[in-house]
Amino acid sequence: MSRSRRTALVIGDGLAGSAVAAALVRRSWRVTLIADDGAGRASDVPAAVMAATIGGATDPLTRLRRRGLNVTEAWLAHLERAGFDCGRIARGSLLLPGNERDRARHGRVPPDDPSARHVTPAEARAATGIESPSDGVLHGRGGCILPDRLATALRSVHVDAIHLVPGRVARLVRHADGWTAESTTGEPLSTEPTAILAAGTACTRLWPNSRRWLLPARGQATAFRATAAISGPRLPISGGGYITPAIDGIHWAGATLQRGDTDPLPRAEDDRTNLEFARTCLGLDEVPDPLDRFVGFRATTPNRIPLVGRLAEHLWITAGHGAHGLLTTPLAAHLLADALEGRHHPLLRLLDPETRRDGHPTDANLK
Ligand SMILES: Cc1cc2nc3c(=O)[nH]c(=O)nc-3n(C[C@H](O)[C@H](O)[C@H](O)COP(=O)(O)OP(=O)(O)OC[C@H]3O[C@@H](n4cnc5c(N)ncnc54)[C@H](O)[C@@H]3O)c2cc1C
Repeated sequence: MSRSRRTALVIGDGLAGSAVAAALVRRSWRVTLIADDGAGRASDVPAAVMAATIGGATDPLTRLRRRGLNVTEAWLAHLERAGFDCGRIARGSLLLPGNERDRARHGRVPPDDPSARHVTPAEARAATGIESPSDGVLHGRGGCILPDRLATALRSVHVDAIHLVPGRVARLVRHADGWTAESTTGEPLSTEPTAILAAGTACTRLWPNSRRWLLPARGQATAFRATAAISGPRLPISGGGYITPAIDGIHWAGATLQRGDTDPLPRAEDDRTNLEFARTCLGLDEVPDPLDRFVGFRATTPNRIPLVGRLAEHLWITAGHGAHGLLTTPLAAHLLADALEGRHHPLLRLLDPETRRDGHPTDANLK
């Protein structure tokens, strides 16, 4: 592609959109980033856990997430060295087995990750500061991150090359020179030779064929106050749910996951589920009182592998990062930016709409 045409419009400034904008700018592209400020964005979740995944070394999803963790860690290190606040609250995480199946998998501490080790309840306590109800896997890598701060850091580091346009895209129009993103009133918000959809669950409105893969999954996280009696973990705990270390005196427990559910209102039963998980992990007699809650929508895919690649001529997508966007959005951005320059990484075949194997089987939505 000629240098003069190395410009793109990206729809969505969550983690996926901010990461792909940053990856393109690092390759000397200029980017227009369009985003609205609607509620329910996945990247607005108050705190998220970056936990290395356990699973067979040949399982594609596990391999993808492990590679993703390497890329995310490299990006975090780069940004932090440059003085940007990436919203990192803790380094390391404790994975507790949620059930017998998890317990069997935990026997397979990843051999390629020297930072992971099996720990006894006493060792888990020494690391996290709480009584652990069981043994678990302690990961030196990963940790707890505020996704919105990381997204902001990704955009700020390249502030001169990213043009931010506030607005809601209602339609993408194809023409000879590329794509125009139109607002709800039909005004052109931006026209560029290349467009990238990074609008989370809203991708299906802008490109209906993506419904074959993308499904919203509602998630609710619940906050409870750290007190002398309820001292939560120093490291995030995950496994059937998560609890974060205290952020300004508040722990977050989460998150529920309801596929196909688009209800934005918080639910008392979800608070109970989250706080019961916290009660068990922290060995409390009673569930903590809920203090606040967040409801957001993840875009998920049938096989949980993100949807990253080409949708049509000069139209690309990065979405479907599900419940692990911290692990997958920087890797996806790197693969996509390379693909835009004609370098197709073999890993992309797993993610690309044209070559992936999954999809919702009886897709009435496509009709
Ligand atoms: C409750 C909950 C808990 C989670 N916990 C974790 C966790 O512990 N660990 C982890 O790794 N991940 C977690 N995630 C997932 C993670 O937050 C996402 O995978 C990640 O943030 C990627 O999001 P995204 O950028 O694809 O989408 P979003 O953050 O939803 O971003 C979509 C963007 O598109 C914009 N947009 C949408 N429609 C339009 C339009 N028409 N015009 C213009 N702009 C538009 C939005 O404004 C937004 O900027 C959690 C998510 C939720 C909801």
